[in-house]
Amino acid sequence: MAKLKILTGANNLILRKKSEAVKAAEISGKKLSKLIKDMRDTLGANDLGLAAAQVGSSVRVCLVRLNSGTNQARVIVMINPEIAPAGRETEIAEEGCLSLPEVWVRVERKKNITVKFLDVKGAEQVLTLENLNARVIQHEIDHLDGILIVDKGTAAVGKKTIL
Ligand code: ZN
Repeated sequence: MAKLKILTGANNLILRKKSEAVKAAEISGKKLSKLIKDMRDTLGANDLGLAAAQVGSSVRVCLVRLNSGTNQARVIVMINPEIAPAGRETEIAEEGCLSLPEVWVRVERKKNITVKFLDVKGAEQVLTLENLNARVIQHEIDHLDGILIVDKGTAAVGKKTIL
């Protein structure tokens, strides 16, 4: 079990860097497998997501916990995720971030999305998601592009969701 250090701070250079796509040959490699295992160990039981950049690796990999708080809850690994809106509707909600402790921001996100990604075996997967599941993915993909919630909205009062 290797818990990694989570980088923090809106000016952290790794958090602000655009992450590189994972190459097909790297997917079954030891280096990526170890990173994903360590990220799983690092994701707290109540955390909804973690991007590789947050633990210091600038590669397009993230973990997301879908259906949090239900008996359908599961953690999915997404490699090279690409997102497309599925509808025009947006929703504003308060978000926090493991990399910005004590910061809460009201962020407008697409309510429905489709996300295409590679799983840990390199197989292409497509999911259509809504509400909190869609929000978590949009937040994590922002991390892969060096974008943080402080860029997205206005400061919120109170505590809601940590992604
Ligand atoms: Zn975050």
